[in-house]
Amino acid sequence: MINKTMYARGAESSVIREIFTYACQRKEQIGAENVFDFSLGNPSIPAPAAVRESIERNLMGRSPEELHGYTPAPGLPSTRKAVADSLNRRFGTAYGQQNIFMTCGAAASVCCALHALTNPGDEVIVVSPYFPEYRVWIEEAGAVCVEAPAKSVTFNLSVGSIMSAITEKTAAVIVNSPNNPTGAVYPRETLTRLANILHERNKSRLHPIYLISDEPYREVTYGAEVPWVPDLYEHTVVCYSYSKSLSLPGERVGWVLVPNTDPMADKVMPAIAGAARSLGFVCAPALFQRVVEDCVDEPADVEAYARNRNLLANALGEMGYTTVEPQGAFYLWVRALEPDAQAFCERAKSFELLPVPSDSFGVPGWVRIGYCVSYETIKASLPAWKALAESYR
Ligand code: PLP
Repeated sequence: MINKTMYARGAESSVIREIFTYACQRKEQIGAENVFDFSLGNPSIPAPAAVRESIERNLMGRSPEELHGYTPAPGLPSTRKAVADSLNRRFGTAYGQQNIFMTCGAAASVCCALHALTNPGDEVIVVSPYFPEYRVWIEEAGAVCVEAPAKSVTFNLSVGSIMSAITEKTAAVIVNSPNNPTGAVYPRETLTRLANILHERNKSRLHPIYLISDEPYREVTYGAEVPWVPDLYEHTVVCYSYSKSLSLPGERVGWVLVPNTDPMADKVMPAIAGAARSLGFVCAPALFQRVVEDCVDEPADVEAYARNRNLLANALGEMGYTTVEPQGAFYLWVRALEPDAQAFCERAKSFELLPVPSDSFGVPGWVRIGYCVSYETIKASLPAWKALAESYR
C-alpha cells in the first residue's frame, strides 16, 4: 500500500523545483539565453581549483576501497578532525572529531538534527519567511512547524515573535543566517537576546530548547559578521554543507556539529547518529569527504555574487521595486507588484522571468530572485524586469 503522505509530497514536488522544470522546458522551446531562471540556489561559480586538484590527487593515489568504499558511519576520522581543527582555528573552540558527524549535505544535517532533538507532537519554531523544506522535514520527524514572523523591513529575526511562539511543547528553533530567502544576517546582539530568553525559559523546563543553526551560506556574506552560535547558546546544533561555499551541491557533503560545550553533548551526538542511521544518511560520499579534508579552509568566492547582487538590487531599485538589501546568501527578496505573488509570477513568466513566489516560504506578497546565476544573465534580464514593472503602471 503506497504511503499517502509520501505520495502527496512526491507528486506535488516543491514550487521551486516546479519552476526549475518549467525553465528547462522553456529553454528547449525558445533558447536558454531567452529564459531568465532565478528559481534554484544552484551556484554558477565553479568549485575552487583546489577542489579539482584534490579530486585528481585522490583519484590517482588511492585504492578503490579508499576512494569509493563505505567510510565509518559518522565519516572518516581524518575528515572529521580536519573539520573540527578548522572550526577551532576560526572560532577559538576546542572541538574534536567526536563533535562532527559527516552527512549528505545540509538537508541531511537538518533532518538528523530534527529527528534527534524532537519527539512526536513536539513543536519546532521557524522564522518566516523560511526555506520551504523545513516544514516537510519537521513534519517528517513527527513534529509541528510553528511560524514566528521575522521583523518587517529588515527581516531580522524577531526575538519577540519567537518568545510568543514558545510553548511547553517547543523542542527547537531553527535559525538560518545568512538567510534563504531574504539574505538577512542575524546580528550578534539579536542572537544574544534570543539566547538570553531561551536560558530564561529553560529554567522552568525539564528539557532545554535547542537551536538548530542551519548555516549552508555561512561563507557567503558581503561584510556582515556571522556569529558562531554555539558561543552564544550552548544547546546549539550546527548544520553545514559545502553546497554553497565550495559550489558542490550535487556532491552531497556536509556535517552536523554537536559542540562539546553543550552539557548534553554525550546524549545528543548518539541521537544524531541514530537519526542518521534511521534515515539512511550514514557514510557520506567517500571521495568528497576526502576533498573536504583537503579544502576545509578554502575561501568561498563571493566576489561574483557581490557583483550580481549590486547590479540586480540597484537596477530593480531604480525601476521602483522594493527590495531587501541582502547581507548574505545569494537571494534578493523583492515585493511583488500586486498582493498575489503567484499572480505576479505568472505575469513575470510572460516576460520569461522566473522568480519564486513567497507563499511557499510562509508569507504572501513577495518573490525570491536567486542571483547565483551568471552576471550576463542578470544583465540580459534587466529590460524584462523593467517591462514587467511598466506593465503595472
Ligand atoms: N538549508 C537551506 C537554508 C538551504 O537554502 C538549502 C539549500 O538550498 C539547504 C538547507 C539544503 O542544502 P544542501 O543542498 O547542502 O542539502
